Amino acid sequence: MTMTDVKSRCFVCGASLSNDEIGIYKKMINRGATECMCLDCLSRELGLPKDALLERIEHFRRMGCTLFT
Ligand SMILES: [Zn+2]
Repeated sequence: MTMTDVKSRCFVCGASLSNDEIGIYKKMINRGATECMCLDCLSRELGLPKDALLERIEHFRRMGCTLFT
């Protein structure tokens, strides 16, 4: 699966998304998502601080998750 089938902007605020932001959205919300949120909107949605999401991204990367290469 490539990133090209996912929209590259946050569907809430329109910010452009990094691969990490797309990856964490898929992990936390929906593995098959084609539209994603930026970290700011996702942290608001989940009620989690942005730092917690960044930690999770690092955690998944260390686990070798292919969404965070
Ligand atoms: Zn956003």
